[in-house]
Amino acid sequence: MDTLLQPEERVLSTLNPDGSRRWLKPRPSPGKWLRARRVVAWLLIVIFTALPYITINGKPAILLDILAREFTFFGKTFFATDTLLLGLFMMIVFVSIFMITALAGRVWCGWACPQTVYMEFVYRPIERLFDGKPGTRAKPGSSGFRKLLKYVCYVLVSAFLAHTFLSYFVGVENLRHWIFGSPLDHPIAFLVVLFTTALMLFDFGFFREQTCIVACPYGRFQSVMLDRSSLIVGYDRNRGEPRGPLKRRRKGGDVSLTVAQESQGDCIDCTMCVQTCPTGIDIRDGLQLECIHCAQCIDACDAVMDRIGKPRGLIRYTSQEALDHGKRKLLRARLIIYPLLLLVLISAFVGVLLTKSGAEASIIRESGNLFNIVQDGQIMNQARIRITNRSSSTVTYSASIASPEGVRIELTPETLTLEPNKMDSMMARIIARPELFTTSPIDVYVRVTGSDGFEKELHFSAHGKIWAGSSP
Ligand code: SF4
Ligand code: SF4
Repeated sequence: MDTLLQPEERVLSTLNPDGSRRWLKPRPSPGKWLRARRVVAWLLIVIFTALPYITINGKPAILLDILAREFTFFGKTFFATDTLLLGLFMMIVFVSIFMITALAGRVWCGWACPQTVYMEFVYRPIERLFDGKPGTRAKPGSSGFRKLLKYVCYVLVSAFLAHTFLSYFVGVENLRHWIFGSPLDHPIAFLVVLFTTALMLFDFGFFREQTCIVACPYGRFQSVMLDRSSLIVGYDRNRGEPRGPLKRRRKGGDVSLTVAQESQGDCIDCTMCVQTCPTGIDIRDGLQLECIHCAQCIDACDAVMDRIGKPRGLIRYTSQEALDHGKRKLLRARLIIYPLLLLVLISAFVGVLLTKSGAEASIIRESGNLFNIVQDGQIMNQARIRITNRSSSTVTYSASIASPEGVRIELTPETLTLEPNKMDSMMARIIARPELFTTSPIDVYVRVTGSDGFEKELHFSAHGKIWAGSSP
């Protein structure tokens, strides 16, 4: 009965054939790629931690204020109404991802993704510190106490990480207030911090590499974004196969290691590349969805090749094309199209940014009656004028009627003083003489002016009773 339930082939590298979790404890493989990745990882951790504290033009380097719908990047604030800029920005991000993947494969996954960086260079080292390295004897001392210490470290790191992550959304000042205030003063914020910490703990303490294998959409997309010439971590099957173990040879008192048969390839089937893999796969099975191109198997195999006196690079950064035909095609259509597209998008983004006026103003009809008849039979339409100050100084705004004659405007408040990147609105009562309404609606132009010289005309359709003659 049991055998009936066994899958015919491996379903997931983190599942045992009986469906239970296969906990991965990758063996670290010191080497040039691990050293380089460690430097990059710690540089990124420092940048990620420091960015919310850095201010440019008095604003945080990055602040994604979702509630206020304001997004600040390096001193420039964008609003949800900046649809063109945000659209262009998203397109730039997507085309950049396509281009980088076509050129360098999953370099983001293996070198820069926060999931990999924190998992491989923070959480796994903590695990090894308390549990010992995989394949070595368990550390002396009470295992229960060591486990407890390990989880205390996990919780502390997760809490720190959660606070850093949240500071990108609420700003460091708010966060400081939350940390030093009583949770009862801000229960929602406290719950958000608690939930984010629990989420980090779940991800890095329990779910781990499965985020890359089953949850991350980018991992799923990679197969359509890679082509045969993209950079991958690949096993040189032509050189390594047929694989086979080393044989001990005794000559006199000397013992040497040699391949078992003359026809044998360079792979000695030591499985060091498998034991070091953080996603638990065997690179010798070919390019797989689970491979995050972390290069740990390169370091592991290079060390083995050094020991048996063979050239390094049985597993290496290469491409499918190079593995099959010995040559990597660098110039491909997509590597011309993507940069050109990116150039156009970046130029458009910069162009829109530079030609943006010092403020944004719009007029919206208030809900309720289309119009009201006020004193002397005059027709009143109610609207709201919304202004966003895009300049870098505080500006006072006002509004007046540009045309037609016979229409006046009453504002509440009469003027609007806005700090940089602030948005507010004023109520406008647009009052017109009844005889203007020979058609309904009539076109009214409202001129918004700012103390910094800003000027913009807004179109408003004023509704009213149509008078057949000159008098009611
Ligand atoms: S196969 Fe190699 S490059 Fe791919 S995830 Fe495993 S160790 Fe990293
Ligand atoms: S580390 Fe190298 S030699 Fe050892 S099994 Fe992997 S590919 Fe073969």
